[in-house]
Amino acid sequence: MKLFTASFFLICIALIACIDSAPVESVKSQIRPEGYTVVIHGGAGNFDTESYSAEEEDAYLENLNTALLTAQSVLDTGGTALDAVEATISYMEDCPLFNAGKGAVFTAEGQNELDASIMNGKDLTCGSVTGIQNIKHPISAARKVMEESKHVFFSGAGATKFASEHGLEVVDRSYFFTQKSWDRYLQAKAANEKSAALPEAFKFGTVGCVIRDGKGNLAAGTSTGGMTWKKHGRIGDSPVIGAGTYADNNTCAISCTGHGEYFIRAAVAHDISARMAYGNESLKTAADAVVMDKLVDMGGSGGVIGVDYLGNPVMVFNSTGMFRGFVKQGEEPVVAMYGE
Ligand code: ASP
Repeated sequence: MKLFTASFFLICIALIACIDSAPVESVKSQIRPEGYTVVIHGGAGNFDTESYSAEEEDAYLENLNTALLTAQSVLDTGGTALDAVEATISYMEDCPLFNAGKGAVFTAEGQNELDASIMNGKDLTCGSVTGIQNIKHPISAARKVMEESKHVFFSGAGATKFASEHGLEVVDRSYFFTQKSWDRYLQAKAANEKSAALPEAFKFGTVGCVIRDGKGNLAAGTSTGGMTWKKHGRIGDSPVIGAGTYADNNTCAISCTGHGEYFIRAAVAHDISARMAYGNESLKTAADAVVMDKLVDMGGSGGVIGVDYLGNPVMVFNSTGMFRGFVKQGEEPVVAMYGE
């Protein structure tokens, strides 16, 4: 009897140890909810209800809504997470309200220099472009880099040459001009003449999309004109994999927006994924820790959107506002722009 009790006890310990040390993936693969989740952002910044007219608010919310419907129509007709991320961001790049594609902000030299990145959570492949001046859809250029080159990151003229050689639409630089971005540039110029610091309001507008599709594949993408008055050749976090964008089917997909220098230093997107992988944190706990503690302590303003491997969405920001929204399969889109 004693022998039986001892053996039983040892078997129990062995079983518990086995469960505890089982690779997270083997546990996760047993739970695969059906249905997709899409999360988007259109930039974070310090704005509030006083910052926009009712018409402007409607325009932002309507376009966020249409961006989510764009993702839904791709996914509902058999498209993958990657297809939907590219289509949704292309839509937002075409919308002059956002600081990506048409509507991009101007550098201190009065130019548009666009950055974008995309990542496939299934196999950790990724592609990025920076300093694009003539390609209509930088997110598509990033996808071409990922799928049709041996490299992951192209810059400037080389990025543009690669994209045009791979059939992407080339536009004149003037295509990206909007009066709103130009006015903001002129304000930044005037502010810069008075002091070195730029008003907080100049730091927002990037777009991003993260998706978990019905097969459990994750993808993330980010596209931006960067920050108004950025120095010629300056690169922010948006095209930097691990800083502005990251996706891994085992953890989450992340897209960031905010003061890029801080997001690079904090390796924000990868840190959130790593906290889930190594610390078993939930996406919400990990995103809160990075955005509300780590970044705040460093002085970095902005936010992130994310979706975890089960399809749970998060939208976390330490600024006063973030253009954002999410939709789950079969449900109505939810969009917002101010803090709760
Ligand atoms: N993160 C972008 C950059 O630093 C800007 C933004 O998200 O508004 O270039």
